[in-house]
Amino acid sequence: MAIKLLDDDLINKIAAGEVIERPASIVKELIENSIDSGADRITVRIGSGGRELIEVEDNGQGISFSQVPLAFLRHATSKIKQEEDLLHISTLGFRGEALPSIASVSRVELYSQAPGEPGVYTCLEGGQQLVHQIHPSPPGTRIVVKDLFYNTPARKKFLKSTVTESNRIHELLCRYALVRPNISFSFSSDKKTYFKTPGNNSLPDTVRTIFGSDFAEGLMEISYRGGDYRIGGLISSPKVKRSNRRNQFVFVNQRPIKSPVIYRAIDQAYQGRLLSREHPVVILFLELEPSRVDVNVHPQKSEVRFSDEQSIFRVVLDVIRDKLEKSSYGVNINYLQSQRPGIIDPAEIKTTGYDYLSEQPGVFTGQPLDNTEYTRAGEAAAGFDAFAHNSLSGGPEQIVQEDRINIIGQVFDSYILLQKDDSLWIADQHAAHEKVIFEQLRAQKSLEQPDTVQELLLPLTLELSSKQMDILETSRESLLSMGFDLQAIGPNSIALRSVPLPAAGREKEVLYEIMDDLMLNRELPDLRRRVITIMSCKKAVKAGTRLSIGEMGKIIDSLLALEDYAHCPHGRPTIIRLTYDDLERMFKRR
Ligand code: ADP
Ligand code: MG
Repeated sequence: MAIKLLDDDLINKIAAGEVIERPASIVKELIENSIDSGADRITVRIGSGGRELIEVEDNGQGISFSQVPLAFLRHATSKIKQEEDLLHISTLGFRGEALPSIASVSRVELYSQAPGEPGVYTCLEGGQQLVHQIHPSPPGTRIVVKDLFYNTPARKKFLKSTVTESNRIHELLCRYALVRPNISFSFSSDKKTYFKTPGNNSLPDTVRTIFGSDFAEGLMEISYRGGDYRIGGLISSPKVKRSNRRNQFVFVNQRPIKSPVIYRAIDQAYQGRLLSREHPVVILFLELEPSRVDVNVHPQKSEVRFSDEQSIFRVVLDVIRDKLEKSSYGVNINYLQSQRPGIIDPAEIKTTGYDYLSEQPGVFTGQPLDNTEYTRAGEAAAGFDAFAHNSLSGGPEQIVQEDRINIIGQVFDSYILLQKDDSLWIADQHAAHEKVIFEQLRAQKSLEQPDTVQELLLPLTLELSSKQMDILETSRESLLSMGFDLQAIGPNSIALRSVPLPAAGREKEVLYEIMDDLMLNRELPDLRRRVITIMSCKKAVKAGTRLSIGEMGKIIDSLLALEDYAHCPHGRPTIIRLTYDDLERMFKRR
């Protein structure tokens, strides 16, 4: 076959495959251009999740009539001139790929005016310039992208739903607004405005505008200058717990990025203050010499490579840890306890009748435990509310005698060891309890009967972002049918009047989690199941909690009474079984 050079149009389409994956990638490129142009006001409007319309308007330095055609040429950029410049990139763009790529897969209109120049209007279709003329235009640039992927139907098919695509754009804009509090960003989708940041250079004000004042409350400022790094931003107290990293925003030299090293440093800093599955809210800005970070790893520039990962890890860890230590949020007591070598409470040893060698945790000899014994111990346990509303069905009487369960004890305040049949079982106490609660809630016909709903004495008011308001509004009816009585009492505030019982006492936590879930999975069916999952997770006893033998017994009894007891609602194992044979094999007795 003959080898031929590809024509420009085709080259652009191929490049577009790398740069322009979805509407959010276009928004990203356009706002980066606006930022590079020195704008302090950037307005983004989208329609149908960006597939029909993406419009970005700025008040930056504009592009002159003669330069416009160049802007749409491949590898044409005003931002770097020679190879050395690659080591000192201070602008967000530099590849000169975005505009030609965008233009090759959509219909683009551009209005611009540079200082002292006449205004200009250009329109392109599938990369071909159709019009280029002098046209009055306000100072700055406005780019309108329509009918994305109209000429590449295969790519169009890969777009997600309107909601998903607009969520991505929303999230992206939040990031840029956070890192540029000096720029006023506004975002509207299908004619509804979601936020307009003040542009007054205040990060807390910006956070409040985007996420609502409830979110902003309880964040602490971090700041560090020294050696080769500067760090700034906001971090949450360990009282704030999120179940994912969606509220961690990391920026390196003002570029939003994903960085496993930095996530690890954050996790380590909160270690002992949060559990492994809980995540803090972090907005972190790291500045370092541009030559020490390679942003050119990926066409979308969302990943970076550091020349010295180890020292980045160290400095981020130290700065956050230092802040947490200096503030009043000391290490949580449960954690300290779980570090203690003693594992089984002496009081419990008596009730169980185990001969426990106190100097060597986990070593025991002794007789099997009588079931009734641990039940009594469980009832005696005070201050443990995890069972309060659960009335576990499998009481002591229901334990099948021949199926004796012998609770051996607890390790790391997190795992329950037991012997049953011919096996040693190890249960994850949180996952096991979560599963038990989940199944109980699922069995309830309704979450919305008088005896299953907790009316709040004083309605709880929450200040939310417009996005959150929007999301709650859409699911209000279904939430109400589960017992969440929510009412909008202002453009950005709601009052919560009742919650399902299992959420009582954890109303805010549960509601935030539900909003997070709705934001991610709005179109997934079975909201009830998801809400139940969230409530059981919040209600279940946490890892790091000391349990009495009785409490452990109740969890295990109820768990093993379930048909499908081996996995928690998230699909993780609840209990692991090692048979006598397994042990024999492990010790090479066979
Ligand atoms: P890059 O940003 O990598 O230089 P682009 O294709 O995104 O490449 O843009 C090409 C050029 O068009 C830029 O270098 C810049 O000179 C100009 N340009 C693009 N958008 C704007 C804007 N909003 N304001 C001013 N100039 C712009
Ligand atoms: Mg660019």
